[in-house]
Amino acid sequence: MSERYDYDLFVIGGGSGGVRAARRAAMLGKRVAIAEEYRYGGTCVIRGCVPKKLLVYASQFSETFEDAPFYGWTLGEHRFDWATLIANKDREIERLENIYRSNLVKAGVEVHATRAVLEGPHEVRFLDGDRLVSAETILVAVGGRAARHPSLPGAEHCITSNEAFHLKEMPRSVVILGGGYIAVEFANIFLGLGAKVTLVYRGKEILQGFDDDLRIELHQAMEKKGMVIRCEEAIERVSQIGNGRLAAHLFGGDVIEADQVMLAIGRQANTENLGCDKVGIDLDERGGIKVDDYSRTNVPSVYAIGDVTHRIQLTPVAIHEAMCFVETVFRGNPTKPDFETVPTAVFSQPEIGAVGMTESAASKAFPEIEIYRARFRPMRQTLTTRSEPMLMKLVVDAATRRVLGAHVLGPDAGEMSQLLGIAVKARLTKDDFDRTMAVHPTAAEELVTMYEPSYRIRNGERVDG
Ligand code: NDP
Repeated sequence: MSERYDYDLFVIGGGSGGVRAARRAAMLGKRVAIAEEYRYGGTCVIRGCVPKKLLVYASQFSETFEDAPFYGWTLGEHRFDWATLIANKDREIERLENIYRSNLVKAGVEVHATRAVLEGPHEVRFLDGDRLVSAETILVAVGGRAARHPSLPGAEHCITSNEAFHLKEMPRSVVILGGGYIAVEFANIFLGLGAKVTLVYRGKEILQGFDDDLRIELHQAMEKKGMVIRCEEAIERVSQIGNGRLAAHLFGGDVIEADQVMLAIGRQANTENLGCDKVGIDLDERGGIKVDDYSRTNVPSVYAIGDVTHRIQLTPVAIHEAMCFVETVFRGNPTKPDFETVPTAVFSQPEIGAVGMTESAASKAFPEIEIYRARFRPMRQTLTTRSEPMLMKLVVDAATRRVLGAHVLGPDAGEMSQLLGIAVKARLTKDDFDRTMAVHPTAAEELVTMYEPSYRIRNGERVDG
């Protein structure tokens, strides 16, 4: 690497992708610096996956308390305190943030707490102190942020997931706009914590892109728990109605009053005022940075990874992109990120875990597919009055027997999707599943004991048996 530059690598953005790339390059002996304007850890650690999962755990206790008497427990008085949860969550996030920062330092990365912007193909400007530094390679890993919906009158009264993590009080009623991951997860969190929740989604069914069976079953399960779900509806405006309360006016004329209205309508790349225009970096129509298969922008010395590139907005994907970037640029081994069959989980209640093709996608891509489907009441519910079916589906190519997709709705579905991800990624066949011994008594054993297809889809037509 050339001594012409202050650093071999300068990383802008201290989230999952940026931190991983910086550490990995520094461990290879490269001179690396990183700048983060807010808190190290990025969306995932500070205001995303990690605090969300802690809130999910908190919200699950209500059902555990409801079910406990059927297992012989007598519970004393119990009540939920939002302030305690938020304080404990904040302490944990601070601990993780410190680990992120200290791991960078331990790896030999120069760590800066400032906003940094692009000034040239090899130049970065620190806005704090207005210092200019140079690097042979610059990695932009600035992530994204919750979309604010500027065209919605009254949007300024609404919260996004950012604010949801820091509300002073637990809302007694919430209207959530959107039908994706964040809308569905937060709807269940607030419902589990005792709020009245209305989910307003513009499409026909929530969670577009997931298997239709699971979408419908989850919708029904959430309604059964008391959530109101209004599909094919949208909010026209939001107004204040006094006492800190809001009214969400739907296009159809209905007005829903609530303590909070939350927007969960996707995320946008953090490219404003980043200097992309100054350096001539091409952006897509939504402001994301365009990159090639190796995460390189049209400016050869500048790379971009993670949510800012509008590829797949998931933490493990950003980390994988970081590893491929380092392999490509610093180890002389050009490596493309592999986006095929990315397993995913939605921490709804019940949970979704999925990998690979949905029934609908596979039926269009293959002449004949077999669907193996099991729907049953999980054993844990059998002593209780709860009846929330678990659903498992395997989508199999009839010609090769390859398992194209695996979809689970129910307890621990997220955990299952990680392991199913290995099987589907390895292109295992249904025969491999059949040859695998069941683990009994578990729910997951259904995945290896569905011997006969529930139905087939031949040339797009369903054929039973
Ligand atoms: P998603 O893309 O998942 O969902 C956005 C939702 O908002 C969709 O239902 C979309 O509708 C709707 N929408 C978009 N624009 C509008 C609009 N103008 N008015 C009304 N509705 C609108 O985004 P999220 O914000 O939920 O999450 C962002 C990303 O973060 C996710 O894509 C995911 O990659 C990641 N994430 C992952 C999690 C996990 O792994 N468990 C958890 C949380 C987030 P339509 O479907 O019609 O387009």
